[in-house]
Amino acid sequence: MKAPAQHKQDSGKPAIAHIDAALTRMGWPPCALLSPMPQLIAVLDAQLRPLFCTEALLRYAQGSAAADLPPSWQSWVHPDDLQALGQAREIALSRQGHACEHDLRLRAADGSYRWHLTQLSRLTPSQQPGDASASGDTADWLLALCIDIDMRKQAEASLKDSDDLWKLALESNGDGVWDWYVQTGVELYSPRILQIYGYAPGEIDPDPAEFDARTHPDDLAQMRADRDAHFSGRTAIYSNEHRVRCKDGSWKWVHSRGMVISRDEQGRPLRMVGTHTDITVRKQAEALIWEQAHFDALTGLPNRRSLRDRLALGLQTAKQSQGQLAVLFIDLDHFKEVNDTLGHDMGDALLIEASRRILASVRPQDTVARMGGDEFTVLLGSLADAAEAELMAQQIIATLACAFHLNGERVFVSASIGLSLYPQDGQRIETLFKHADQALYVAKAAGRNRLGRFTPELQEAALARMRLSNDLREALAQQQLFLEYQPIVDLATGRIHKAEALLRWQHPELGRVSPADFIPLAESSGTIIEIGEWVFQQAAAQAQAWREALDPSFQISINKSPVQFRDEATGPGPQLSWADQLQTLQLEGSALCIEITEGLLLDADPHIKQSLQTLRQAGFQVSLDDFGTGFSSLAYLHKFDIDLIKIDQRFVRELRPQAKDLVLCKAIITMAHALGLKVIAEGVETAEQRDLLKDAGCDFAQGYWFARPMSPKAVEELVLQPAPSRF
Ligand code: C2E
Ligand code: CA
Ligand code: CA
Repeated sequence: MKAPAQHKQDSGKPAIAHIDAALTRMGWPPCALLSPMPQLIAVLDAQLRPLFCTEALLRYAQGSAAADLPPSWQSWVHPDDLQALGQAREIALSRQGHACEHDLRLRAADGSYRWHLTQLSRLTPSQQPGDASASGDTADWLLALCIDIDMRKQAEASLKDSDDLWKLALESNGDGVWDWYVQTGVELYSPRILQIYGYAPGEIDPDPAEFDARTHPDDLAQMRADRDAHFSGRTAIYSNEHRVRCKDGSWKWVHSRGMVISRDEQGRPLRMVGTHTDITVRKQAEALIWEQAHFDALTGLPNRRSLRDRLALGLQTAKQSQGQLAVLFIDLDHFKEVNDTLGHDMGDALLIEASRRILASVRPQDTVARMGGDEFTVLLGSLADAAEAELMAQQIIATLACAFHLNGERVFVSASIGLSLYPQDGQRIETLFKHADQALYVAKAAGRNRLGRFTPELQEAALARMRLSNDLREALAQQQLFLEYQPIVDLATGRIHKAEALLRWQHPELGRVSPADFIPLAESSGTIIEIGEWVFQQAAAQAQAWREALDPSFQISINKSPVQFRDEATGPGPQLSWADQLQTLQLEGSALCIEITEGLLLDADPHIKQSLQTLRQAGFQVSLDDFGTGFSSLAYLHKFDIDLIKIDQRFVRELRPQAKDLVLCKAIITMAHALGLKVIAEGVETAEQRDLLKDAGCDFAQGYWFARPMSPKAVEELVLQPAPSRF
């Protein structure tokens, strides 16, 4: 989709975000969705300068959807209509939430003018003090919607002279005309009104009951109420929108307007005339806009916005009936892998099938919404007890764990679900969402494919994580962080010329905190960027020292988080590139090996591939950590620049002669070698594991059997002494 046409603001920044925010507050879709729609729609500022126009409007007025916006709305309006426009603007600006309608002639690209019914309505200003759009201008922005009424205007003009009565009726606006003798119960119809609904003249009896019988049952009550209000003199003009059934059985939306033109002495209506305007197209456009604002286009499920509305309603009902309500946050495990490896079309097909399965697992009165990406939310109302909600959640997990058949491929994903309950776990929308999210976090951390329930302990744990995350911000400056190094042994020679740098945190009160606990926090808060930079500098200096003191080819591995790569791709990145820093130290790139995770490679971002290439060009080695735990195959890895793979501890742990994992390790080693990659086995804890790996041809090993992560001094002592026999 091309960028919607819009004016630049003085700052040079596009106003589109502000416009989108203002539109969204009105229940309209954002510019990008609005732009290709067939309606003539514009957003104007208080001086009527267009800020945004739909492509249809630009095509109509400028001849091309790609045309520039005009400097003023007035330049498109017939000079004789400018006064009416000015009045309409005043009224629209003075009334929040009411549309002001007026007819005006809008200039087409060829210079001719056509009449348009134009609705001007003031956009709701932002209520939030922090919102950028609250800084002043959106408050006076107007939305203009123009509907072509040129045919009608021409008809009005030609009928003008023929009959005062018709003139009156037509002037009150409309296509087809009706003329109702209220006391005698006779109603006359113009040929045009019959034509709207597909009837020939004379085909409908001159009886108001005829039209009432064709009016949509849902619209009848309001129509009668509006009619009574006019009969009793409470409204100057009768006006009502309703649906009428056509001869062919289809429904048309009409705007019916009319007026009592004579009354008896008691003031009872004698005669009323009015019109029907076919507004089906407008209604369809409104329905489409409403649909787009409230439903997810891919799955047809309610979106985040309508979920909130429904939850608010559900909470109200639950409060009144003292019932229970459950919120389920569903997250598909490994969806990203499917999307990245099989393509977005398959990803879309999977989401549609997943939404179908979730719907089938709940009751008809429950709400299933898509929050975006692979996240769904389910609302379960009027529950007997918590167990009922848990049962449905388990049902969802079970059904999503079954194979998906996508275009001949069998694909497995699973689901993690977080559950929070009203009233136990929270009374307000925000609280219920937050607690379902915490429960989801726990379900994922516990290994996915499961249900997490909110508990007060979870809340405690979330608080503890937050405190720890805050402490971590200070840890670097307070010199609480340091590195340990775990030697990596060359299995053929028993020598050590590699070591992995592992980060340690000595917390002033908690003592040693495990990196498994604090690295994820550093990643989600972004602190990892600063810390990762520090790790690099420490490790580079250490490698330089050891190349001089121990071995000129000594290499240190450092772990680089995907968050650091993403910061380079989209954020500021490090001040001085790692390659430049090495040059300053006069250190070869091969002094360092960067350990990355599979998840990074699956990231579809082309910048990531570029960053890896840059590292390789600077001479760094790249190794793939925790191999075998993710999704990628060796053949897939071949596409990337990688020197080494590290077989995950999980496979090494179970290594025994005849074990299945041994076959797997051998296969990995053989294939890696065929692709020119070296292999490191992690987590070697026994002599037997070392022997099996050595026999399988594994190049390097790392683990407690050889050495634990240790201080630099301890590494030096180990390297300088003759290799122990256990190596
Ligand atoms: P990892 O990269 O897979 O690191 C290997 C982990 O295995 C280390 O845990 C190490 O102490 C442990 N290990 C080594 N040999 C054995 C063994 O024989 N048996 C057992 N059971 N474990 C062994 P550690 O130090 O707790 O680090 C955990 C994770 O934290 C690391 O996993 C790595 O993902 C992350 N991490 C550590 N330092 C850094 C860092 O500087 N930056 C980033 N981004 N992540 C780091
Ligand atoms: Ca590692
Ligand atoms: Ca590892």
